Amino acid sequence: MKEKRMRCKPTAIRLLAQARTGTQELAEQGVAVHLVVVLVGDNPASQVYVRNKVKTCGELGIQSTHVDLPASTSTDELLAVIDGLNKDNAVHGILVQLPLPKCIDESAIISAIDPDKDVDGFHPVNVGRLWLGESGLFPCTPMGVIALLEDSGIELKGKHAVVIGRSNIVGKPMLQLLLRNHCTVTVMHSRTQDPASVCSRADIVVAAVGVPGLVSGEWLKPGAVVVDVGMNTLTEEADVARFCKPGSRKAKAFAKNGRVLYGDVFYDSAVEVAALVSPVPGGVGILTIAHLMVNCVTAARRQAGQ
Ligand code: NAP
Repeated sequence: MKEKRMRCKPTAIRLLAQARTGTQELAEQGVAVHLVVVLVGDNPASQVYVRNKVKTCGELGIQSTHVDLPASTSTDELLAVIDGLNKDNAVHGILVQLPLPKCIDESAIISAIDPDKDVDGFHPVNVGRLWLGESGLFPCTPMGVIALLEDSGIELKGKHAVVIGRSNIVGKPMLQLLLRNHCTVTVMHSRTQDPASVCSRADIVVAAVGVPGLVSGEWLKPGAVVVDVGMNTLTEEADVARFCKPGSRKAKAFAKNGRVLYGDVFYDSAVEVAALVSPVPGGVGILTIAHLMVNCVTAARRQAGQ
């Protein structure tokens, strides 16, 4: 049987190589690409994400600084930090790790970052640039998904794509990027009626929901391409029994750790119908961080007037 697991690693390697080359080219011109990651509070998941970003920068020759602030930091204090980073010409990328503690005005912080240093692509100016078809810095996860589809040889032009989820971080920018690539796009969300029937009209499905195993084979058109953005933790034995074959790697991981990472797609069911399905883990997650590195280089180039 043809391999139905989408190979995400080659795309991650390509994006990282692109970032490495760009960093070297800029270094030859006297520009040391520099990312500053700001972490507020002590959310353990955020600490892991920040550590991975800093580590990946190091592997590519991108300079990185990790600014650690206490959970008690106020919006004004964080705005002052952002202001300093905006004014520092040696800083090309600013990333404030989300979520922020509840007492901080997240949208004020995102809007305060210089749009040309906004490597997450969440600033309203970059959102506007994306919607207007202009160049800018765009969110890393959907950019990674487009790179994956391209590398997998999927023709996008004229295809019907269904995006499940309408968040500002994934769903909405995904819609725009697919539209830019000449797909006809439908966006599904929690109020969509008859979701199975809507989804089953798609040539390409991008699931970014946060509901484990939501998309099963019954939701898919035969031959569809399915990209699973979801990153959910299964902790209930019943869910594991439903989604993971006995003796599978995931079932064993659950038996050992009492938890296992699972996507929004019921993988074993989806592969029966789809042409290609991206795995979780080892899928879109590795593309997100790789594209962040590309965005750092793009930000440095924009600031160098290139
Ligand atoms: P989010 O902000 O919680 O948005 C979830 C979206 O899914 C919402 O638009 C929601 O609809 C929709 N939704 C919820 N239940 C639904 C249902 N039953 N049917 C259809 N739509 C439904 O989540 P997010 O930040 O976009 O993240 C989505 C998933 O991707 C999560 O598992 C997250 O961990 C993962 N993620 C992975 C990466 C990566 O690098 N791989 C990056 C970012 C996110 P409403 O708008 O109507 O509420």
